[in-house]
Amino acid sequence: MNEASVPIDEQVLRTDVVIVGAGPVGLFAAFEAGVIGLSCHIVDALEEVGGQCIELYPDKPIFDIPAVPVCTARQLIDRLMEQCKPFAPPIHLGHRVMRVERDDETQRWRVTTDLGAVFDAAAVLLSAGNGAFVPQRVGLPEAPALEGRHVHYAVRKRAMFADQRVVVAGGGDSALDWALALCGQAKHVTLVHRRDAFRAAEATVQEVKRAVASGQMDLVIGTIATLNTLGDTLQSIDVKMLGGGVTIEADHLIALYGLVADLGPIAQWGLDVRVGRVAVDTSYYETSVPGIFAVGDIATYPNKQKLILSGFHEASLALRKAYAYAFPDKKRVHVHSSYDAQLSERILGAPAAREAAHS
Ligand SMILES: Cc1cc2nc3c(=O)[nH]c(=O)nc-3n(C[C@H](O)[C@H](O)[C@H](O)COP(=O)(O)OP(=O)(O)OC[C@H]3O[C@@H](n4cnc5c(N)ncnc54)[C@H](O)[C@@H]3O)c2cc1C
Repeated sequence: MNEASVPIDEQVLRTDVVIVGAGPVGLFAAFEAGVIGLSCHIVDALEEVGGQCIELYPDKPIFDIPAVPVCTARQLIDRLMEQCKPFAPPIHLGHRVMRVERDDETQRWRVTTDLGAVFDAAAVLLSAGNGAFVPQRVGLPEAPALEGRHVHYAVRKRAMFADQRVVVAGGGDSALDWALALCGQAKHVTLVHRRDAFRAAEATVQEVKRAVASGQMDLVIGTIATLNTLGDTLQSIDVKMLGGGVTIEADHLIALYGLVADLGPIAQWGLDVRVGRVAVDTSYYETSVPGIFAVGDIATYPNKQKLILSGFHEASLALRKAYAYAFPDKKRVHVHSSYDAQLSERILGAPAAREAAHS
């Protein structure tokens, strides 16, 4: 488990807000929730926080974050993690939120993940970007029935490949790294990639080339065409190549083609979904279902700009309304952060906060 992730050992976790998505907008929302006085839990399907910033462009520079002339996407996520740290929001990684259901008696939300975690929340903030990132699957009709036994989209227990004939498919860092890692353990490893160029670190590509040259693994340039089975057991894999083909004997196929975004279960929650986005009222970025908010890339409204800074603003407003759901009998009085003594103490610590107040 990623070190940012908090294990869940209670049956139902009660909180003011469940934040679905730990991209930049979800992380900033956790900070804002703390500032406003709301407790929250963050849930993300990935094993790492950061959403698109980390999955798609971690080392690219970003120039349009206010007061940050330039930082890489990874640095932005590190800073957002640091910013929300004083509130220690529990982050649950590797959990995909599947269901969001209204409890008519309590007027609260029951949020359930694919791993069985259950949250009881006054409000739900969707900062789910383009939906959860899921592995791109093998597009062959015989693949689904073999999933988990012979066809894999991640290596969870490498011991299961010991002394087995393994085909690793893909041309990115994960595919090359796993092909190399399994070399000493598997009976035989074949790396299959559709072209003779890789999207991986140069040092890894060179290592693969050395392993192929020394006979530690095979490299086949082609496309996987058929998974041949005997009963429900994988026997071999046909690979279509330029001007021909080859059949590779195999017990396992590990397909590491990268991730694709999928709105998935969110589309079934009764929200107003328009072309893969959730429509919101811009007063508070509330969806058509009161108590569920949508912010960041997943939200749509006239003139929506898919920018990180738009998501920050949306989250800030949405949480102000979420406060009313969590504390219907309290009126929240806004205090600028620069004059918020409690916030100052939380972030700077008591002596530093006192000093700041008197300077
Ligand atoms: C190459 C590239 C460059 C960019 N450059 C810039 C830039 O310079 N400036 C800028 O402002 N913007 C830029 N953007 C856009 C910016 O990255 C997005 O606007 C931003 O990431 C949106 O943040 P988010 O938190 O709304 O969603 P995301 O970053 O997409 O995060 C959403 C998270 O929600 C999770 N999730 C979804 N569904 C579920 C579920 N059911 N259960 C659990 N978790 C779920 C996903 O796994 C994901 O981690 C760029 C985008 C790309 C692709």
